[in-house]
Formats: sequence, structure tokens, C-alpha cells
Amino acid sequence: MDLHKTLCELIAIPSVNPMGRTFSGPGYLEGHLTDHLEGIFRSLDLPTLRQPVAAGRENILVRLDSNLNELNSGPLLLWDVHQDTVPVDNMTIDPFLPRIDGHRVYGRGSCDVKGGMAAMLLALDRLAKERPAGMPTIVLACTVNEEYGFSGAAKLTQLWAKKQTSDFLNRRPDACIVAEPTNLHAIVSHKGAIRWKCHTHGRAAHSSLPEQGDNAIYQMGRVIQCLEEYAQNIVPSLASHTLCGNPTLSVGTISGGTSVNTVAERCTIEIDRRVVPGESLSDAYNHVTTQLEALNGVHVSHDPPLLDAPGLSNTENGELARRISDIANRQGMDCCSLGVPYATNAATIAQSGIPTVVFGPGSIDQAHTADEWIDIRQVEAASNILYSLAAESAW
Ligand SMILES: [Zn+2]
Repeated sequence: MDLHKTLCELIAIPSVNPMGRTFSGPGYLEGHLTDHLEGIFRSLDLPTLRQPVAAGRENILVRLDSNLNELNSGPLLLWDVHQDTVPVDNMTIDPFLPRIDGHRVYGRGSCDVKGGMAAMLLALDRLAKERPAGMPTIVLACTVNEEYGFSGAAKLTQLWAKKQTSDFLNRRPDACIVAEPTNLHAIVSHKGAIRWKCHTHGRAAHSSLPEQGDNAIYQMGRVIQCLEEYAQNIVPSLASHTLCGNPTLSVGTISGGTSVNTVAERCTIEIDRRVVPGESLSDAYNHVTTQLEALNGVHVSHDPPLLDAPGLSNTENGELARRISDIANRQGMDCCSLGVPYATNAATIAQSGIPTVVFGPGSIDQAHTADEWIDIRQVEAASNILYSLAAESAW
């Protein structure tokens, strides 16, 4: 398997996540990439499983059995990588025409996270061919919808959480590595997030007689001012974590009113509250709604969360991170155990009691960007580390 070729093929197959927007056209959703991955796994002669998550969206899993030659026994290592990318609006390069320039490979998803996917595919290919003694069984799960709700990873965990025994997988993995652009560091901890829509409710009137109405936009102005002060003065004091710092709150979107000559009946914002590991998502939500209840004359309501993803705690994954760091550092990298602010599939997987570390090639600084790229040398290094972790570490 050639690394450049594998990565360029992945980039050339669009797998854009609509991120809740209406969409049309073949570039959206993960289906074509799922088919492509299934073809690769078939060519390796390995068993696969398609797991439906939503219409046109399926996780695809492949299993490489250990040399114990006993189905569903022995140590089990899970590798997770998401199939979806963010949209391509305002990109300055052709998103699906991969371009190689020196060590860089450009294209949507090159960094987040088809580079990491290529690294896992190459490591799996090499392990399948060499079958080193003592390697664990490896399940590579290519999950859907990471960028907008982590529903693919949540569905994946049902394979063991609900004891849905199948020939493919009948037990909980012993450890998990989630591919994301971590610059080859071991991410042991990250924040989670809860997001929801908040509305103000007024009364419509002709704008020539505004005193007859109750302007929902003015009400929202007071809500936003309250939230800005709350975010600055109160949210950071609600919790703290040694690796992830403090919680945050941000208002991301606003929309309201129907026309310039009508007093607005309704105004809506979207709130993003980041929690640190261990912080309760529902407490965070309730704390915000209680703040706003105290505003006189403001009629406010809150939708249920659009997303509630927990943080990744570093209480269970230290040993796995140490193994990754040892191997990476032996191979000339400078791998540290870190905490980061962004959320990943790892927290969802770790919630089912699996020590989970986020690790992969590329920098988060290049993820989601207008000219997204990855350094192919990092992809190669990541692949070698993943291979060695399976082949050389005692499981
Ligand atoms: Zn990602």
C-alpha cells in the first residue's frame, strides 16, 4: 500500500458533513468513502461490518485477528477514525483534487482526518501481511458524523455496551486510539461541549407603532449582555482541570425578526458551553438557564441540547499514553501527554470504560482551514508508531 496514493484517494472522495444544513449533491455524507474503505478491507481479505447510523451513513469496521487464532478472545485494540470532513465553503484550493507540494498534501480532510485514516490503513495492511507474534486483535472503526454530534462513535459503543453479541465483535475493547491531528502527541484529556438554541419571545406589531409590540430582539440584547458578563466573570470560576484549564461559554449565532417594518416576535441564539472533564453537562446547561431566568421582562426559552458531548478524562488512559509516548520517542519523535480544548470521539468511547487516547498526524492548526494540508512525513511516522504499538508492545 502506497502512502501518497492511499491518502490522495481518500481526499478525492468527498465525505462532507452537512453540519445540520440542508444539502444536495453527491459530495455530501460518507457513503462513497464507506464503499471505498470496504473495497480496501476486502482486498486485505479481512472481515468487515457495516453499522447503519442514519440514512446514507454507516460506520464501517474491519477486524484483524491476533495470532491466537481464537475468534473473540485475547486482547482487543480499537482504532477509531472519522470518515466525515467539514464543509468546503470559502476554500482557496480545490478541496477534492489532492495536490502534493514537497512534503505537503493539500485537500479537504487531508489533516482532519484522512491523514490519520491513511496512517491507520497502512499500519493495518502491514500488520495483516506480517502478523507479528503477540499482536492484539485490532478492530479499525471508520465512524460517521464526528464533526456534528459524534453519533457514529455513540452507535459504535452499542456494539459492546448493549451486549449485542455478533460474530464480528462480542466484547468490549481493552484500549482505544482515536485518530485526530495531534501533531503526534498523546492527547489524554479534552473538553466536552453542550450546545443549544435559546429564544426570546415578544409580540409582533407594525414598526410604525412599536409601542404596541414587544421586541424580541431588544430582549435578546439583554440576554446577550448577561451572557457576556457571565462568560467573563462566572463561567471560568465554575470548574478547573489541570490539563484543560477552565470552562468557557460563547454565543455562536443569532437570528431574529421577519422584516424591517415589523417588531420582532422572536429571536434565537445558539449557545456553546465547553465543560472540562468531570463537569456535568446538565448542570452546566441548568446554570445558564437559571442566570437568564433572573432577567426581568425577558421571556426566554431554551431548546433541549443539540449536542452534549462529555470531556475526556485522563484518569484511566495514562498507561496507554505512556506506551504511545515510549514508542514515538524511540522513533525520534517528541511525544508528550497533553490536554486540548476541542472535543473528539474519544470521550464517547471512553465513557464505556475503555482507556482511550487521541493520537495522529498533522496539526489542529491546519484542520478545517481554507488550504488544508498535512505533512506526509507525519502521516508516515504515525503509521509506524501505530504499527509498533500493536507489534512490539506487550498486550
Ligand atoms: Zn477530526
